[in-house]
Amino acid sequence: MSIAKSSASTSATYCSGYSEDVDRIREREYPLLKDTTYLDHAGTTLYAKSLIDSFSRDLTSSLYGNPHSMSASSQLSAQRVDDIRLRALRFFNADPDEFDLVFVANATAGIKLIADAFRDSPRGFWYGYHVDAHTSLVGVRELAAAGSRCFVRDDEVDAWAFGLESEGRESLGLFAYPAQSNMNGRRFPMRWCEQVRARCSKAENKVYTLLDAASFVSTSPLDLSNASTAPDFTVLSFYKIFGFPDLGALIVRKSAGDVFRHRKFFGGGTVNMVLTGNEPWHAKKESSIHERLEDGTLPFHSIIALESAFETHRRLYGSMENIASHTRFLAKRLHDRMVALKHYNGTRACQLYTTQNSSYDDPSTQGPILAFNLHNSRGMWIGKSEVERLASIKNIQIRSGTLCNPGGTAVSLGWSGADMLRHFSAGMRCGDEHDIMDERPTGILRVSLGAMSSQRDVDAFVAFLEEFYVDKLPEGVLVPLMRGVCLQQPSFYVESLSVYPIKSCGAFRVPDGQRWEVRREGLAWDREWCLVHQGTGVTLNQKRYPRMALIRPTLDLGRGILRIICGEAHALEGKTLEISLNRMGTNALTTSLCQNASKPSTVCGDKVVLQAYTSPAVSSFFSNFLGVPCTLARFPPQSSTRSYAPRKVARSRSHNQSPSMPGSFPQAPSSPSPSPTQTPILLSNESPLLLISRSSVNRLNESIKSTPRANPNSSLDSDNFPGSGTNSNKAVAADVFRANIVVAENIPTAERPYIEDTWASLRIGSGSGSEQLRFNVLGSCERCQMVCVDQYTGQRGDEPYATLAKTRKVERKILFGRHISPVGDARAHGEGGCLGTVMVGDVVVPSYEDDDES
Ligand SMILES: *Cc1c(COP(=O)(O)O)cnc(C)c1O
Repeated sequence: MSIAKSSASTSATYCSGYSEDVDRIREREYPLLKDTTYLDHAGTTLYAKSLIDSFSRDLTSSLYGNPHSMSASSQLSAQRVDDIRLRALRFFNADPDEFDLVFVANATAGIKLIADAFRDSPRGFWYGYHVDAHTSLVGVRELAAAGSRCFVRDDEVDAWAFGLESEGRESLGLFAYPAQSNMNGRRFPMRWCEQVRARCSKAENKVYTLLDAASFVSTSPLDLSNASTAPDFTVLSFYKIFGFPDLGALIVRKSAGDVFRHRKFFGGGTVNMVLTGNEPWHAKKESSIHERLEDGTLPFHSIIALESAFETHRRLYGSMENIASHTRFLAKRLHDRMVALKHYNGTRACQLYTTQNSSYDDPSTQGPILAFNLHNSRGMWIGKSEVERLASIKNIQIRSGTLCNPGGTAVSLGWSGADMLRHFSAGMRCGDEHDIMDERPTGILRVSLGAMSSQRDVDAFVAFLEEFYVDKLPEGVLVPLMRGVCLQQPSFYVESLSVYPIKSCGAFRVPDGQRWEVRREGLAWDREWCLVHQGTGVTLNQKRYPRMALIRPTLDLGRGILRIICGEAHALEGKTLEISLNRMGTNALTTSLCQNASKPSTVCGDKVVLQAYTSPAVSSFFSNFLGVPCTLARFPPQSSTRSYAPRKVARSRSHNQSPSMPGSFPQAPSSPSPSPTQTPILLSNESPLLLISRSSVNRLNESIKSTPRANPNSSLDSDNFPGSGTNSNKAVAADVFRANIVVAENIPTAERPYIEDTWASLRIGSGSGSEQLRFNVLGSCERCQMVCVDQYTGQRGDEPYATLAKTRKVERKILFGRHISPVGDARAHGEGGCLGTVMVGDVVVPSYEDDDES
């Protein structure tokens, strides 16, 4: 069997054979890709607009009934399914005399169907699989009663296949491997199917072959024309080829179909007669393999959609060969350009995980997927989460993690099983942000190309890497500032105070002239409420729902009310909701506080118990505005068990640190952070209070405005450069940082941006001594893309995160602002845990890390 018809010597060409230029196709058929660089075709490729139009015409012009019956509508469905089954076989050059095609939900369902049949065979089965298998192939081993083996190297497979004849096994065997790794696009030898078959003649202990073609078929022709060398079973998912429908296939070599006789389960549609009651007996259908395996009602609408998919695909792209050539062309370009990315000191920015002997020039060894990690000019690895966050604000869609390919990623990254177990006990889980362990990456970044990928996608991605991950200069080349000078400068005052009564919603500005209580857990009323998803109980945030910025709460302490207005700040009319501040209060207006039906909710991964408001008026107020089923919830009083522990980078005292530079960070901590006294907090993310400095915001804005906007270095015109719509050199408001306290210098001409990075503690207050409130600095605030949400419009842009990533990164963290915590004994002060008050205009006196004041 030759898996791909195009030979290695065929040179790859850009959209040749396509109906027209790929940019034209994109414009007309994929309007959603307009400002997006979509590079996750291995996750799923995208459907063309005319596929959906054609499917919808089909459905609205014919009456389709359930295929298992005799009515005309039913017969029509059954007929269409038969026709499309044949067409699908032909798509893979599979002769219907030799092969049958079973419709399944997806490739994984096909694998499970096979595994179940093998498990039910009289002596169980033995299972062999390649280390680069997708997770869905690995799981089969759990059913293999006669044992399993994972092949790590290709020559192990060859040697095993060679010795099969003399093997003394008494059970059936199944050997599975991917046609193409979904992790790095590596392609595997097709000879294995033939080799295994040639050496297994006896029926009792025959070894069958299972080819996982799910990744391969999305950009390559699969050619099953030679049944004698083809795999016994081939699985794939159609959405990976066409984007739609969500449907899979199991293609069975008819001569291997006997194994399905062992399968015990049956469902509606796969039996000819069933007796129930005292005589449990049934007769399975015998007519065809698919009739025996397709339990229940077929996903017949999806199967009907497949016809539109075949048609549209052929009309747009001509053939899979054309797509193979197009994607190979792009993958090669992308690969070469990524390899060429070098830091100022000549070191490479990208570590690509390609397999030895595979080449982006040779389709028999490599498909259009690139797996990689990034490191900086000092060789330090960059965490995948940071890359994903930046990619997301730049509208670039990539995939990261272990990519559902546990063996492939572990081998590429050099992690042993023992390492992985250690990571697991350290808390690492699929999809989390444990990006780097032992100074090495735990996951991989992946970009993958598809039929409608274009040169612009490649350009945009390389430009993105160049902009953020190629170091142009050594770090820390910033204007030097002598420590001695700065200490003589005048002091600071409180420019503004903000309370965020509802987590992730708008700010309530404390009015000038009003003193505001400070409690151990922060400013009074700060993050006392949040919104929770009614289905999952997870708290909502602006990262997911930027419109939350437009939910604006006001604290009316005089009336004891929290008033909430939804809508843009300048909109004259918004909907208003009033909630009583009194927990016991029965504010009859709209709310009832649910005191006993507390359900656990998740805030930043921690479990906390929240009291959700049960009133439909409250939930519909928020649900209607955000378009997500949610309700308001309140944090219970004084029961927080969460506390702030400074992060490693948070605080450092290094004494060999002169001259210090504004904008630079202290070096790595010289000693572990002092153990924190447990600081109670409410729902705020990190600490009781967050402080930023006006002059730092100003400095950041200068950087934003002076940043030349990157254009991809492309030969194509770049006016339509994907993502350009979100680029802006516009200054950002201080509000995006969602600080509680903004401080500013007394003398505006004496701005010292980022000097707060060196603060160890501060005092705020009008007078001296007892009237001043003291705060400890817990550490710097790590930022995510949430700072890109404009707090007035609820719109997302790419600043200031893009500039922060370039100017404010230390040890893989992007820092801006300081977490602070008030010092004092609440019992010695007023009631309710109040430590004192602050007010706009109060003097702020910082102490620096080098001061030995404390
Ligand atoms: C995507 C993929 C799968 C799983 O496909 P599902 O549609 O999720 O069942 C299995 N193997 C490979 C190689 C894949 O790329």
